[in-house]
Amino acid sequence: MRNRTILHVDMDAFYAAVEQLDNPALRGAPVVVGADPRKGSGRGVVSAASYEARAYGIHSAMPISMAYKACPSAHFLPPRFHRYHEISTKIMDIFYSFTPVMEPLSIDEAFLDCTGCGKLWGSPRETAEKIKAAIRSETGLTASVGVATNKSIAKIASELDKPDGLTVCDPGNEREFLAPLPAKALWGAGKKTVEVLHTMGLRTIGDVAASDRASLEKIMGKMGTHLWTLANGIDDRDVCPDWERKSFSEETTFEQDTGDDARLELTLMHLADTLSRRMRKSGLTCKTVSLKIRLEGFLTFTRSRTLDEPVNDTRSILDTALEAFRKFDREGKRVRLIGIAITGLQEPENRTERQLDLFGCPQEVADDVKKHRSADTLLDSLKERFGDKVTRATLLKDIHS
Ligand SMILES: [Mg+2]
Repeated sequence: MRNRTILHVDMDAFYAAVEQLDNPALRGAPVVVGADPRKGSGRGVVSAASYEARAYGIHSAMPISMAYKACPSAHFLPPRFHRYHEISTKIMDIFYSFTPVMEPLSIDEAFLDCTGCGKLWGSPRETAEKIKAAIRSETGLTASVGVATNKSIAKIASELDKPDGLTVCDPGNEREFLAPLPAKALWGAGKKTVEVLHTMGLRTIGDVAASDRASLEKIMGKMGTHLWTLANGIDDRDVCPDWERKSFSEETTFEQDTGDDARLELTLMHLADTLSRRMRKSGLTCKTVSLKIRLEGFLTFTRSRTLDEPVNDTRSILDTALEAFRKFDREGKRVRLIGIAITGLQEPENRTERQLDLFGCPQEVADDVKKHRSADTLLDSLKERFGDKVTRATLLKDIHS
């Protein structure tokens, strides 16, 4: 089997880093995001601690009262999930722009399978460097990346050099790479499991790898076999992009409720544009388009339509949303929020350009396909370069007429 290139990308102290990004006064200071410490009598836990706070021994999941005792002068902040999600969406979009085979593990980390992307992004290390640079330039935040031939090692590797780290485990070097690391670094080894390993005298991953598989299984059951396999550098699990469950949505809340149809339709155009761009970046199409509309007084309605063919062009998404909007009788009420959601996401059967690049087709063929890129793709690349100022004249005309 050809060696895979799997990256695990993990944002550094994500919530705390976002707080420091948004408020320069917090940079370089200990920041703890989580429950209210109430001067040491608070309940609840730490959600995230900046590296400055970690210097005081504060870490996530620690009781907030303990964190307060460790560093009463730290900045204790409540989480702003809306903001973290906003940045998370940006980060996931960056990942998708490198490979469609992306599996988010949480709000701030994901696996990326970049096997065969060499022609596009260079060596595995160069690919990781480009991803880190893109995250930094588009969000101002740092991420740590682990690169390996499988998920388990990539996940372990991303932890080794935090923050702003990059660790590569070269193909063929898996066992040597893992051997000196503590057993608790194994992905999936919880506290109890590690205690059992310790009682067996197994302290490092190398110890686990060299141990007798049968006796490990006898004591720990399936978990024993699993850990022994991982410790030996073997992990066949795929990076699973969850097409089926995944949905994209964009919405706008107006500062003041509006009854202006032209303004509402223009907003739908921007939403359709953003959404379809995200889909194309990810190499996805959708089958269902839903319009969400919230009226003054907070009554919320959705109108969905499933299309005959999967689409990802702006025109189809916009037309479907516009049709639903024009049919909807809001009885003269003004609109507070309008949005579009797309579901039933799937990978198109012929992902031409990206696919051709990924699987190293001859340059002439790739060039020919590139020549026939759709107007949408062209517009996407213009927007990459010039931002949202590039507007779609034909769509605008249609809306104002
Ligand atoms: Mg993280």
